[in-house]
Amino acid sequence: MTTTIVRGRQVICRVTGKDSAEVIEDGAVVVQDGVIIEVGKFDELLERYQPDEIIGTSRHVVIPGLINAHHHVGLTPFQLGSLDMPLETWIIARWALREVDPYLDTLWCAIQMIESGITTVQHNHMASRLPQNLDLFEASSQVLDAYKASGMRVAFSIFIRDQNNLVYENDQRFLSTLPSQLAARTRERLSARPVPLEEYLSSTAELHARRSSPRTNIFVSPHNVHWCSDEMLVAMSDLARRLGTGLHIHLQETIYQRMYGTRHWNKTPLAHLAELGTLGPEVSCAHGVWLSESDLDILSETQTSVCTNPSSNLRLKSGIAPFNRLLERGVNVAIGIDEAGINDDNDILQEMRLAQKIHREPGVSSSHPTSHDILRLATENAARVTFFDDVGIIEPGKRADLVLIDTDRIEEPYLNPDTDIVDALIYRGKGLDVDTVMVDGEVLLRDKKFLKADKSEVATRLRESLSRELTDREANGARLSEEILPYINGWFSEWELESGMSHYSYNLR
Ligand SMILES: [Zn+2]
Repeated sequence: MTTTIVRGRQVICRVTGKDSAEVIEDGAVVVQDGVIIEVGKFDELLERYQPDEIIGTSRHVVIPGLINAHHHVGLTPFQLGSLDMPLETWIIARWALREVDPYLDTLWCAIQMIESGITTVQHNHMASRLPQNLDLFEASSQVLDAYKASGMRVAFSIFIRDQNNLVYENDQRFLSTLPSQLAARTRERLSARPVPLEEYLSSTAELHARRSSPRTNIFVSPHNVHWCSDEMLVAMSDLARRLGTGLHIHLQETIYQRMYGTRHWNKTPLAHLAELGTLGPEVSCAHGVWLSESDLDILSETQTSVCTNPSSNLRLKSGIAPFNRLLERGVNVAIGIDEAGINDDNDILQEMRLAQKIHREPGVSSSHPTSHDILRLATENAARVTFFDDVGIIEPGKRADLVLIDTDRIEEPYLNPDTDIVDALIYRGKGLDVDTVMVDGEVLLRDKKFLKADKSEVATRLRESLSRELTDREANGARLSEEILPYINGWFSEWELESGMSHYSYNLR
């Protein structure tokens, strides 16, 4: 049996309220075989245990491992050549992007995330960006193998859709408006790697049954309400419930998606999901930018979670989620980077800071999230979303997913000593301050150095893998997206944007 004492000037065990947290000054966490067995004062614990190792110093703050509750891939679309665009055109512009080795891409990204203090991720993978020559199970295994090599915890899902692939209407109807050559080539691309619902359901069930690591959960993921037929939504919901696992779905990310609901069901997409009986505590919705008042009630009543992604919503012109309203209704909200952090670098501490700042509504008595609210998003709330109920807080019996943050830069050259430590981290912390990261008591990062693989070697292999000539599929994808984008743009530009109640008033007219 190995005993480790993890110590810090402060141990932040958990958030207890809007402005409060359980914090132990000069504290320590005793870890035995991956489990937290006691939390208390460092001096007292040192007297009673003979640790094999002491990790941390009085310069460090110990926090629960951070959880990125909505994420996709490693190399960002920008790194692969795409500027930010509105979501509806950006998705088509992605056809131009290189196809990246899923194992190396995931491992690279996991290292980046671990360096910023992330110990668990909800990874949501697009079926069409998996290798075309492998079946769904084999292709998914490459991503899962990379997480296993990194040591990170992952709630993994593949998302699929079966309609409205180009614009928010029937594919054939839209294709019939295109020049015939362009329509034929687009049709060919859409049919290149179909994932029939039956294959999806059986592969997901197989992945779930054959999970080889307790650090892995397998989720079910319809892409978004308007992209999935009712048959698909219901079948996936049934599967998630049968497996006792989570269902993750993008939801009302843009105004067009909400308007699709009005046009097709005369209600919001979320209300449509509620009518289908597919909401509940096992469901988490990414984005939720365009939620109506009644949507907030539905989320609260069904105990459905929301994963908010402020950087992504700014970058893709999606808008600002009604975050304060969600908190007021008691909705479980987690936070994700969505592969599109504000600095394009997967730093969750910066994403947390952006979430705090962007929801500061004008007016002395208006709402704003506290630092404690924000820390809770990335710990306890996100643990619930990812179905890892034994992480997210530091207390005896929980798994030892711990992060040590170096306070030197944060406090340099002076920080008022009365500053609450949670405020200090959320106002000034960055990924580069993260010193040590452990999952299940296993040290993955020490002295800011990743231990499970040679980071520079992973970078070299990834760079080399992309030094090859473009494949036909990549070259065709680039040409096709360039040619079809004006038509996609034209189709959406004909929508007169719905006006309605806005949740925030940043600049009153
Ligand atoms: Zn996403």
